[in-house]
Amino acid sequence: MTQTISIRDRNRRQLQPLQVPERLLLGPGPSNAHPTVLQAMSTTPLGHLDPAFLALMDEIQALLHYVWQTDNAMTIAISGTGSAAMEATIANSVEPGDVVLIGVMGYFGNRLVDMAQRYGADVRTITKPWGQVFSLDELRTAMDTHRPRILALVHAETSTGARQPLEGVGDLCREFNSLLLVDTVTSLGGVPIFLDEWGVDLAYSCSQKGLGCSPGASPFTMSDRAQEKLQQRQTKVANWYLDSTLLGKYWGPERVYHHTAPINLYYGLREALRLIAEEGLANCWQRHQKNVEYLWDRLESIGLTMHVEPEFRLPTLTTVRVPDGVDAKAIARQLLTEHNIEVGGGLGELAGKVWRIGLMGYNSRPENVDRLVDALQQVL
Ligand SMILES: *Cc1c(COP(=O)(O)O)cnc(C)c1O
Repeated sequence: MTQTISIRDRNRRQLQPLQVPERLLLGPGPSNAHPTVLQAMSTTPLGHLDPAFLALMDEIQALLHYVWQTDNAMTIAISGTGSAAMEATIANSVEPGDVVLIGVMGYFGNRLVDMAQRYGADVRTITKPWGQVFSLDELRTAMDTHRPRILALVHAETSTGARQPLEGVGDLCREFNSLLLVDTVTSLGGVPIFLDEWGVDLAYSCSQKGLGCSPGASPFTMSDRAQEKLQQRQTKVANWYLDSTLLGKYWGPERVYHHTAPINLYYGLREALRLIAEEGLANCWQRHQKNVEYLWDRLESIGLTMHVEPEFRLPTLTTVRVPDGVDAKAIARQLLTEHNIEVGGGLGELAGKVWRIGLMGYNSRPENVDRLVDALQQVL
């Protein structure tokens, strides 16, 4: 026992200052944060009720309105990763016994199912093979069958690379007096998105994918319709940390302490959003589209094929098929150790069958496409 402790002490003294390998993160997330964002995050923290910090929170709200194209008053950052913001939408909108219809076309649809069940929802699902999306007709049939209080869909299914079209879905939900909840974790900042025009009532995202920040401060928004349902609740929101009424008192004019915001992450998020505003949202979307098309061309030129039909492919995340006889994991490992490039492997139905290549935020640049495809060609 004494000996163990002394060895531990010796190891502790021998630890060198932190050194992190320089990786190019072209997987499903995180992506590399923009250098300006990293610089902002290394600034001294302010107090969480300092007027200068409160002003920065206001700026985050205004910038989130812009990138999401929404006027929702309740638009904030959740202190946590995308999953925390995901849970915030569920915790605030679902009451025990509510019928919640979830479109499952990949891994993150299943996570929504798990979360909604934990909050006591009567969960109904519709499913698609991984890589496909739901048509408006299919959604209509399911809405008619299940009559849910909430319909939940994943806009950008990071496990498959498929983009779920949302045009008309908000109107459909209004016909059935349902709320529309949408996962925009891998779409915000990289894929055209119009929350208000599409009639989305609850949405969430993260900081470390299309926004080009580090993980930990995650966008969350609720429409007035979603707020009304919240106000009519018979039961308390079963999650203190994510209760939007309490959070609203910190983000709104009352400025009541709720939790200590991760100050430096909020600096980073503010800068990441500002950079998108500086570039222009439409330009940012176009850049993602242009670079991903370049990626597809270059991958095809070395004989590889994409898993998703062109019409429904995401600009932020591409699933590329692993050729027969190739060990997907070994190739990914080699890309990391020999070329310092991270790509993702397949999940669930697609395990071992695809690689997942992300071009998100700051990383969506032609030189990254070249570096990846050159390296991939070498290791293959
Ligand atoms: C990454 C991701 C999440 C979870 O976000 P974390 O930041 O990892 O908690 C949820 N949904 C989708 C579609 C994602 O890609």
